[in-house]
Amino acid sequence: MQDYEKELILKQERVEKLLSGLVPVVEPIIGSDNPYHYRNKVHAALGIDRGKIIAGTYEPGTHKIINGGGSDLENEAAVKVINDIVQIATKYHMSIYNEKTRQGFLRRVLVRTADATGQMLVVVVVTDHMFPGKKNFVKTLVSKNSNITSVVINVNRRTDSMILGDKSEVCYGPGYITDELLGKKFTISAESFYQINRKQAEKLYSKAIEYAELSKNDRVLDAYCGTGTIGICLSDNAGSVVGVELNAKAVSDAGHNIKKNNADNVKVIKADATEFMEETAVAGKTRFDVVILDPPREGTTHEFIKACGKLDPSRIVYVSCNPETLARDLKLFDEEGYSAVKACPVDMFSFTEHVECVCVLSKQQKKTR
Ligand code: SAH
Repeated sequence: MQDYEKELILKQERVEKLLSGLVPVVEPIIGSDNPYHYRNKVHAALGIDRGKIIAGTYEPGTHKIINGGGSDLENEAAVKVINDIVQIATKYHMSIYNEKTRQGFLRRVLVRTADATGQMLVVVVVTDHMFPGKKNFVKTLVSKNSNITSVVINVNRRTDSMILGDKSEVCYGPGYITDELLGKKFTISAESFYQINRKQAEKLYSKAIEYAELSKNDRVLDAYCGTGTIGICLSDNAGSVVGVELNAKAVSDAGHNIKKNNADNVKVIKADATEFMEETAVAGKTRFDVVILDPPREGTTHEFIKACGKLDPSRIVYVSCNPETLARDLKLFDEEGYSAVKACPVDMFSFTEHVECVCVLSKQQKKTR
């Protein structure tokens, strides 16, 4: 834990340095109570080493499998499932896919765990839809792990680095698991986007909601909303929420999540966030009191920021997974009349270089330009 304390200090210093002159207050980083085994999505490639079946992640930059690699950060029950699959495959002499020859059957395993409910979804990636002994395989696997609530067989013959192929068959359970964030329920299927570290995601969202200072009539925009998690989590505190998301699968998952939580005041639109902002600013009909944005690592666009200025919200909450692009974007927001008030780093990925940050901006009294 001493190393982790040091890591938190370094992350805090990095964020403070990047945001210096842009954000008057940087709150102390919100660290993890347990920085190990937080990854709720665990993926392993299968291979053969000296005649034995192995499973693990690839050594960085190579396709060499590190047997059981990375497991300090991975969910322990998920790692056990992967080890069980190796045992079952060994016992039944299953053929293992070889990347070089492109021959073999059993290729990868993906395990997703819902921390709050304990449910597990196992996706077994194979190269052929004909799976001899499938029933027994699934039965044996489930009997070894009572937390498994769903097993999906995915067929992937692709030669690129995509983990999953296009065809999936649900062999056990509903094909998805349900997790909870801040008391709301979220469906996770094989391909859904979902925060990797649930406990820290709750802290991140709580900070974003605190910074948004919502009142019951506020109209909120949740830009880059993924499966609608932030918007749904805050929906009880707001008047209405519009989510915007580019990925069609995430938008359809968001629809399920809205229904599951009876979040009738939330809707999610499939659109490019910048185009949506520009169109909304031009149309001039829709007003937002609070804009929340949670863009990917490359940050948002200058056009998004300009359109946001035109939309004239009272507050903007920027959830960032890259403090460098956050700093760049804060300068642009400042030109549009929005100054950062405070920021708070949140450690979502302990023992990696990544650090998240929530920042709240408010409208300047007078435009400085
Ligand atoms: N707020 C969500 C997702 C954040 S990840 C959560 O906390 O889970 C960023 C999201 O932005 C991804 O879902 C990605 O698909 C989406 N995205 C990327 N580029 C986009 C764009 N140009 N317009 C809208 N959404 C975009």
